[in-house]
Amino acid sequence: MATCGRLRLLDQCIRKSPCAIIQRFSSSSTFKASALQLTRTRNPVPKPEDPNKCIFGKQFTDHMLTIEWSVKRGWGIPQIKPLENLSLHPATSVFHYATELFEGMKAYRTVDNRIAMFRPMENMERMVRTAKRACLPEFDKEELVKCLAELVRVEHEWVPHSTSASLYIRPTMIGTEPSLGVNMSTKALLYCILCPVGPYFETGSFNPISLMADPRYIRAAKGGSGAYKLGSNYGPTIKIQQEALKRGCQQVLWLYGDDHQVTEVGTMNVFVYWINENGEKELATMPLDKGIVLPGVTRSSLMELAREWNEFKVTERIITMADITKALSENRLLELFGAGTACVVCPVDSILYADNKLKIPTMDNGAKVASRFYKELTDIQYGRTPHEWSYTVMEDANGDVSEARNL
Ligand SMILES: *Cc1c(COP(=O)(O)O)cnc(C)c1O
Repeated sequence: MATCGRLRLLDQCIRKSPCAIIQRFSSSSTFKASALQLTRTRNPVPKPEDPNKCIFGKQFTDHMLTIEWSVKRGWGIPQIKPLENLSLHPATSVFHYATELFEGMKAYRTVDNRIAMFRPMENMERMVRTAKRACLPEFDKEELVKCLAELVRVEHEWVPHSTSASLYIRPTMIGTEPSLGVNMSTKALLYCILCPVGPYFETGSFNPISLMADPRYIRAAKGGSGAYKLGSNYGPTIKIQQEALKRGCQQVLWLYGDDHQVTEVGTMNVFVYWINENGEKELATMPLDKGIVLPGVTRSSLMELAREWNEFKVTERIITMADITKALSENRLLELFGAGTACVVCPVDSILYADNKLKIPTMDNGAKVASRFYKELTDIQYGRTPHEWSYTVMEDANGDVSEARNL
């Protein structure tokens, strides 16, 4: 590390208080979208012939966004350039201590000839919260939205001409200091890659999923980092997901605590629609206050929509497996579903819990609330309903949009 007076001081302060001091130096500085530099590829790759057949995360567009940061120089100039491999020293912080965070959002080609993102500032808020938690640098959220919008404009031909597919946007930030100390990284790289994604559900069917609920495992703990989209929260879940598959279930229902609280489904938030103990219709989801639940953009959007409908109670409350089994035995459980950017909503039809396969009647009840959420959110995303949640990236994006049948 360089030893100019200010940095030496910084270094001493870092030992006392790793995050606080750096944020003081970098919070006023951000990159600017107006400074963006664009280098176009000379070798564009062919776009998928049928975007509805795209497998998530396997094919990438031609360009990426990169922005470097260092303690010494602050944020660099945003670059959009041909997608390329990163070249990093083997001691780089991200490889040893998983100093990595990410976001997941989408761009949609709308029926009114635009390309739009869905509530991108919500993702930016979460990304900055996660950056603080990871001791990675903060930035101006609006500037990053503008950079992402520019990347999507450069790649607009990659946004599928279909209302059942979309372009997935993966902003990422990594600590890049080549040093083995378990310290705040003095260098970082923010980048973003894009991939076309097909429909989550086979066209025309709202396929329900089966879950494994095993209280021996947890995804996140009180006082931990589960409320942040840090890569380190996800690697260790893969083995449990594999176990779910081995036991004939599609995804994991993450429980928490001695009372087996129902926290999340895979990488989705979980909602229960039921008649509660007081005989009231209620939509319930886990509260965020313990920090064991990821604050999903879809989660908050569904709660806002349901509160606008004003047809039933909308509650953030702890739901335990005992609540679920009791509600099932009293025929009060109407629907259970996951919610996230990938699928919008995903109905659940069974839970394997303590070697019992609980049948969840979401589909038998017509998945009415889940389908209504699905329709209202996708109507906003694909421009069938004008809404302030739709953020226009490009007007007059020429090209036809093939309309999917609604589920
Ligand atoms: C990303 C994520 C969600 C869903 O968040 P959205 O913003 O709705 O996509 C839910 N739970 C976990 C664990 C996640 O990683």
